[in-house]
Order: sequence, then C-alpha cells, then structure tokens
Amino acid sequence: MTARARCLFGAVVAVCVLLAGMRADATTFRRPFDPDISLGYGFDNQPGGGCQDYDCGGKCYDGHKGSDFPLPFSTTVRAGANGTVEVTNDGCASEGFLGSVCGGGYGNYVRVGHADGKQTYYAHMKNGSIKVAQGQQINCGDMLGESASSGNSTGYHLHFEVRVGGIGDDPFTGKCGGPLSYWVVQGAYNGSPSTDCEQMCECKPGDKQTEGCGNCGQRERTCQGDCKWSGFSGCGGEGECAPNDGQTMKCGECGEQSHSCLNDCKWGELSACEGPDPNGGNDACDTGRAGICADGRVRCVGGDIQCLALVVDETCNEGGGGSTASGGFPIPGGEGGATLSRSPGSYEDRDNRRVYGVVCNLHAQRPPTGPGPETAAWIAMLLAAALVRRVVAER
Ligand SMILES: [Zn+2]
Repeated sequence: MTARARCLFGAVVAVCVLLAGMRADATTFRRPFDPDISLGYGFDNQPGGGCQDYDCGGKCYDGHKGSDFPLPFSTTVRAGANGTVEVTNDGCASEGFLGSVCGGGYGNYVRVGHADGKQTYYAHMKNGSIKVAQGQQINCGDMLGESASSGNSTGYHLHFEVRVGGIGDDPFTGKCGGPLSYWVVQGAYNGSPSTDCEQMCECKPGDKQTEGCGNCGQRERTCQGDCKWSGFSGCGGEGECAPNDGQTMKCGECGEQSHSCLNDCKWGELSACEGPDPNGGNDACDTGRAGICADGRVRCVGGDIQCLALVVDETCNEGGGGSTASGGFPIPGGEGGATLSRSPGSYEDRDNRRVYGVVCNLHAQRPPTGPGPETAAWIAMLLAAALVRRVVAER
C-alpha cells in the first residue's frame, strides 16, 4: 500500500473512531513475543511484482501483508495491545504446508480488535495452544497461544499482521513505508520492536473534571502529563449540614433548642431555649449543683431556671405555725406582731444562675418575751428568715 492510501485509511478510521466516541489515539503495539527476535520477512511496500520492505530493503516477499518473525516452535505469542478477541481458530496441524487452506491459510490463529479500529492477526500457531476465546477482553502482553507453522507455512514463525479498515498495513515506518509506525517503539532496522505496552490514556493532559462532594461542595481533579487523573482535591465548600437536616441540643440547665439546615448547607438560627415542661413543674429536673437549688428542683422556662423548692409559700400568708416554708421553718403567722411579705423577682445564685422565685421576708415586730416553745419557734423562724434575706441581699 502506498503512503497516500494509508493516510486515507488512517483518516477514515480516525473519523469513525471519533464518531463512535472512543479515544482518538491510535493504538500502538508491543512486540508480540518475548525473545529479542527481529523481522524475517516483512510487509511488501512495493505494488506490482517484487518486494520492498519499509526501509527499501529486501526483508519481504512479493504481496506479503504481514510481518514474519522466525520464532522457535512453542514460543509464547502475546497480544500486542489491549483489545477484544474477535476470531480464534485452532485444530490445524502444527506443521502446515505451502498452499494449506487450514484456518484460511493462517492455520491456528487469533484476531484481536483494538480501540482505534485496528485489527491484529497472530497466525500459524501450534495446534491446541490457543488460550483465548472469541469475545474475551484481553490486555497487552496476554498470552494468546504458542508459535508453530500451521496453515500455509513452511517453517516455524509468527505471522503478525495489522489491518486498518480491514486492509493489511505495514506496522513499520520507513523511507519506503508509510508515515506511521504502529509500534510503541519500533527499534532499529534489523533490530526488533520493544516489549513495552502502550500507555493507556485515561484523559487528555490539562483536562479538568469536577464533581459534587459533601453537602454543597465541589472537588476537582486534573489530567496529568502521564495521561492519568490526579487525585481529587479536597472538598471545597461542602457545608455544615445537609439541607433539611435538623439538630436539637441541650441548652441552659435542662432546656433544648433546635435549628434546621438551610439550602446553602449552613445551619439556620437556633430557636429559643425551651424547657421540657415550661408550663408546669411535674417534669422538673434536679440541679445537682450547689447553691439555692442544690437540694431542690428546677425547671426551665424560656431557657431560664426556675427554682421550685425555694418557694413554698408563694403568698407568704400561710398561718398556723404548721406550714413549712423554705428551710422547713414554721411560720407562726401573725403571732406576736410578726408579718411576712413577699418578694417576687429574680436574682442570681452563687453560680451566677438566674433564679426566679418568691422569697418570704419576715418582719419581726416584737422580740420574744420569754423562754418556752413559742420563743424557740420564733428563734428558729428568725434564723431561717435571716438566711432567706441573705440570699436576697446577695443578688
Ligand atoms: Zn507471513
């Protein structure tokens, strides 16, 4: 084939490849076997009679469409590049003969289709040695079978043939061949192509790719010079929360407050701090702390603590001495000119907590008149009342 025709085929293949959405890079091949054996008879680059190899030499024969490598019997034959097994043929005698049509003349062979549309043939292999099956995905370097001389062949060798657009093409480039080498590394004339597999490109160097991450974030990766993606960057702007999520947390002494996650993945404003039972005292909880309510119970109202035990007599007018006020002192209401007054309001306890309550203040109008149970009760009451006042005084 002339260089011009090859370019034409090359262009057609490139267009087909682009239309199919596959990578547009041309597939290149490794040497399809391991030993360092150079070309025996190559592709005939001269139309008409006679032959010319890619370097204008005579390593070819008239009309030859492949590259013959003189592999010893039973040498492992390997895939030149990743691809899909399209055809296999086995069962031909390992020793063929000139004019044999077994396997269409290829004897025992494998045909592989590659990503860019090229096909490769590995022909004249050993009977029973084919290791792959039609439809199988294979990687560059995978074993396909072993060499022999099956089919239309008169000596042990591997016939490696590349077809572009269904037509045989010379994988070597040179002054009498085409402009493209289909080898990863062609090597010198009389040398041999390398066994390096082509580098599979994941992406085009410099390309960027972004994807969502976290709740509202984005991360990015870049295609490196080696055609592989870098790792993803950290997630930027991922947000504090997922939209519509809710969160409830403790607040104050025994209250709760909540907030919802907004569409920008940030928490909205916190609600007011509410106690478990803002309207009643039944669900009050223990303080467990020193101070005014240390031995009592508190409840939360609007995030503030209300001291329950401190206030027993909210009206401060219980009489009869049997009533128990804070500290458990008896109130001999009205007796002996004593009066009680009520001090509503709030003040801070020793832990700087805001305390709401009512304190009963004793106003003694006469001192005790003499020893006796009544006087003892008076003294107890005065002591207790003094404690209550002290609390008030510290606010
Ligand atoms: Zn051949």
